[in-house]
Amino acid sequence: MARLAIEGGSPARSQLLPYGRQTVDESDIDAVVQVLRSDWLTTGPKVAEFEAAFAEQIGARFAVAVSNGTAALHAAAYAAGLGPGDSAIVTAMTFVASANCVRYQGADVQFCDVRRDTLNIDTTLVESLISPVTSAIVAVDFTGQPADFDELRMLADAHGLILIEDAAHAVGATYRGRPLGALADLATFSFHPVKHITTGEGGMVTTNNPEFAARLRTFRNHGLSSDHHQRESAGTWEYQMVDLGYNYRITDFQSALGLSQLTKLEGWLARRRSIARKYQAAFAGMPEVEAPTELSDRTSAWHIYVIRFNLDLLRVGRADIYKALRAENIGVNVHYRPVPCQPYYQRSGPPRGHWAVAAAEYERMLTLPIFPAMSDADVDDVIGAVAKVVQHYRR
Ligand SMILES: *Cc1c(COP(=O)(O)O)cnc(C)c1O
Repeated sequence: MARLAIEGGSPARSQLLPYGRQTVDESDIDAVVQVLRSDWLTTGPKVAEFEAAFAEQIGARFAVAVSNGTAALHAAAYAAGLGPGDSAIVTAMTFVASANCVRYQGADVQFCDVRRDTLNIDTTLVESLISPVTSAIVAVDFTGQPADFDELRMLADAHGLILIEDAAHAVGATYRGRPLGALADLATFSFHPVKHITTGEGGMVTTNNPEFAARLRTFRNHGLSSDHHQRESAGTWEYQMVDLGYNYRITDFQSALGLSQLTKLEGWLARRRSIARKYQAAFAGMPEVEAPTELSDRTSAWHIYVIRFNLDLLRVGRADIYKALRAENIGVNVHYRPVPCQPYYQRSGPPRGHWAVAAAEYERMLTLPIFPAMSDADVDDVIGAVAKVVQHYRR
């Protein structure tokens, strides 16, 4: 049996393979440089072009670009009308920003546990959390696999709630033959470099509702009723601040990068799927490893690839496996510690809601590298390293 790198053996590869990484080519660079030489750096014609192309891509009527995915969530919480005295139900297994956007608006968070198979919000538990002050649900398409939107839609309609989809993992996913754009009342996206397409920092909110779209545009620009580009075109200095907003604008050169990246999305999604298929086949033969569950009525965008260990079959816990794989130069990660377990959410007593499944699954989860520029040899390195470590620690 090969000696583990952590015990002095040679690592599975000589250089660290990150869990995610952007792809930026010469055409992306040219697109950015062209805008840098133009008259508009911040909100100009490229922002609107990027919004239109993105809306088309994901099947929504409106798209509003903002400075990052967290700003997109904040803007969605604002558009949904969340405020002090309100409460929103948020999935427990997600990045902290999905819950923080509710707190930014001064509303309370009620955490909802997840399905054990997909780790998406468990819709059978949502109703028990609904009270007269509940006004929204924030669901996440965990790892890129859409949440149960037909059930969520029924719950939202029955109780008059706004449905927000944090779709940061799911650009390009489909649900029961439908694209992502119109499943929720508001959907949010991130263009951080580990996501499907990048603008450095950047985000987008999509909706089919024209009133929401207008509120989003006002919110990202200080609560003003028009932006600089619009005033220039209309030949007026006049503006009105109609509500308290923020400066959450994205720049024109970032939007040019986003537009250029978007043209490559389909190819990148295909590559992510093909890497995932290779992993699924390899891990089907390793009893110590549980591969991700894929439901047959939806397609995942495979933002991350999360395995779970059958710890009964192993001599060590997830932390030791993580350290051993890191030593093999496999850039494993963990997504996510359940949000209610974070100190901020624990500070004023136990948070409200439930997250027992999320907390139990967290102990055995590990994220493996998946990104379009990974070669087949990289994929084999990951599979080989997991097999080596699992064999070593087998009971
Ligand atoms: C990345 C991410 C965000 C935040 O996006 P930023 O652009 O980094 O602000 C929010 N929610 C989820 C689920 C994410 O993965």
